[in-house]
Amino acid sequence: MDTRQHNFGTEGLTRFSHVQAWIFDLDNTLYPRDADLFSQINVKISTYVARVLNIPIDEATLKQKHFYKTYGTTLRGLMVEHDIVVDDYLDYVHDIDHSWVKFDPVLKQAIEALPGKKYIYTNGSVPHALAVTEQLGITDQFSDVFDIVRADLIPKPDRVPYEKFLDETGIKPGEAAFFEDLARNLSVPFDMGMRTVLIVPSSKSVMQPQDSWETSGQDEKFVEYVTPSLPQFLQAILDTNQWNSADGSN
Ligand SMILES: [Mg+2]
Repeated sequence: MDTRQHNFGTEGLTRFSHVQAWIFDLDNTLYPRDADLFSQINVKISTYVARVLNIPIDEATLKQKHFYKTYGTTLRGLMVEHDIVVDDYLDYVHDIDHSWVKFDPVLKQAIEALPGKKYIYTNGSVPHALAVTEQLGITDQFSDVFDIVRADLIPKPDRVPYEKFLDETGIKPGEAAFFEDLARNLSVPFDMGMRTVLIVPSSKSVMQPQDSWETSGQDEKFVEYVTPSLPQFLQAILDTNQWNSADGSN
């Protein structure tokens, strides 16, 4: 498997043997970037920004990129720079066709086989997360879904919501692993003592060219593992660690 491992030689995936809390980002992590869900969400966000700021759509698209890079979410940018309180934003931008996310039997099998508890931590919303996990057939696998509302609308990579997430779930960071498609969102989890895994687009993925900041950071110390395939990576962890099936229940 094409998986890069940093900084720890042959120890490899046995470094996950103690993990009891598996934390997954949602978009472009639990489902591959090829699903291209964000092309739908991006159109909705640009339309929303154009409407509330009363600007042309191309200008709104640039604003959106700026907000995303600077604040982690467009919603946060609207709040900070424009003092806009939006109540319908999350419903509006996530009202998309979730059937673009395809069921993956390898992912489902691997998620079910992981020992301990599984969580979703997303800068999106709970209804959006559940629509995705329904497509993937894994909704019942998650102990909790921590979304941007629970995070008091403060997105990753800000440290504050990570701390709230740990407080509310009781997760011990030394027993956790964090999976993300944005490198910068792994900095705090690494500092807290979690295993960190970056999901990168597979080489055949040609949709949605990424901005340079989105792909930067892959070589940082806080990115412990890099893989183009979450299902294959989880399967490799399972193959390496051979947990008893009796430990696989929640
Ligand atoms: Mg993501």
